[in-house]
Amino acid sequence: MFERAFNFSAGPAALPLEVLQQAAEEMTNFRGSGMSVMEMSHRGPEFMQIAEQAQADLRELMQIPKEYAVLFLQGGGLGENAIVPLNLMGPRAQADYLVTGSWSEKSAQEASRYGNVALVAPVSKPFTTVAAPDTWTCSPQASYFHLCTNETIDGIEIGDVPFEAIPPGVPVVADVSSHILSRPMPIERYGVLYGGAQKNIGPAGLTLVIIRHDLLGRASPVCPSVFNYQVVDQADSMFNTPPTFAIYIAGLVFQWLKRQGGLKVIEARNLAKAQRLYEHLDRGGLFFSRVDPRYRSRMNVTFFMRDEALYDPFLAQAKAQGMVQLKGHRSVGGLRASIYNAVPMQAVETLVQFMAEFERTHG
Ligand code: PMP
Repeated sequence: MFERAFNFSAGPAALPLEVLQQAAEEMTNFRGSGMSVMEMSHRGPEFMQIAEQAQADLRELMQIPKEYAVLFLQGGGLGENAIVPLNLMGPRAQADYLVTGSWSEKSAQEASRYGNVALVAPVSKPFTTVAAPDTWTCSPQASYFHLCTNETIDGIEIGDVPFEAIPPGVPVVADVSSHILSRPMPIERYGVLYGGAQKNIGPAGLTLVIIRHDLLGRASPVCPSVFNYQVVDQADSMFNTPPTFAIYIAGLVFQWLKRQGGLKVIEARNLAKAQRLYEHLDRGGLFFSRVDPRYRSRMNVTFFMRDEALYDPFLAQAKAQGMVQLKGHRSVGGLRASIYNAVPMQAVETLVQFMAEFERTHG
């Protein structure tokens, strides 16, 4: 067995080794408290300090304006598919959705249980691109406009959201689960950003929501209190017991990101990793990407092989060399290398060299 695999999992995903080592050191006795963070009251001074520091570091990293609340919730990305409409649909009960892949499709389906969902562009499968923004049919009356800025399964990323295509005054809600913290984002252009933690933030079980204050207080009377953004905000994300250990690890990840130099530095690294892989895919060997180059994800590189029979040997040999979780999502097949913040260039380099070698021996 390799001591540390090159882990290309889409999530739960690789975490920085330094973070895991620090957590291991602090596991049984957190900084003299005589207990693990897991064993602490969420209302005690040690944990309150952990949560406050985590929020402060996240705000600094993402440059979150003071007009925005940061909420630590549960329920994951899929939970938000219901929680967003329950909080934001309002009496108009009408929202616009852009469907660019498997996750935003699920978001639109779930939201339609709570109100009228209009798709701003036709859904075209397989998902390989984004409908031209000047063709989107947005309604100025919509309670909000929802999109997923990085489609984890399909490998489609909208790096620069064309905000000018969305009517001014309509809050933009983005599922940023799989590329949050991978690059700077213009928070002030959004109403809400949300994401499950298990890719670039930390362990599964924590959901992060960043919401502009004026959007609080619009929840439907049937919205569960634990998912009511205003209730959670007023209780400083301690309305009920938060996922304490996940928040602690997320806090360590935020500190690690600060030590790396922040999101601009991380973005440059992520860009270099993605370019290395896409350049190889575009060489015309056994592998290819089918995603429109304008929308290729820097985080989830999806690709296919020209010969179907080669998937199994490729995956088996990759695994034998310590490269795991390269299989594409079962709904689309093919291969996928998720190269989140904690996946080093060395992992990408090893993968590309292995792909080249595989092409030499199977081409
Ligand atoms: N949205 C995106 C973009 C995702 O990648 C995922 C999970 N891979 C989800 C939503 C669903 O998240 P969860 O499993 O945390 O509910």
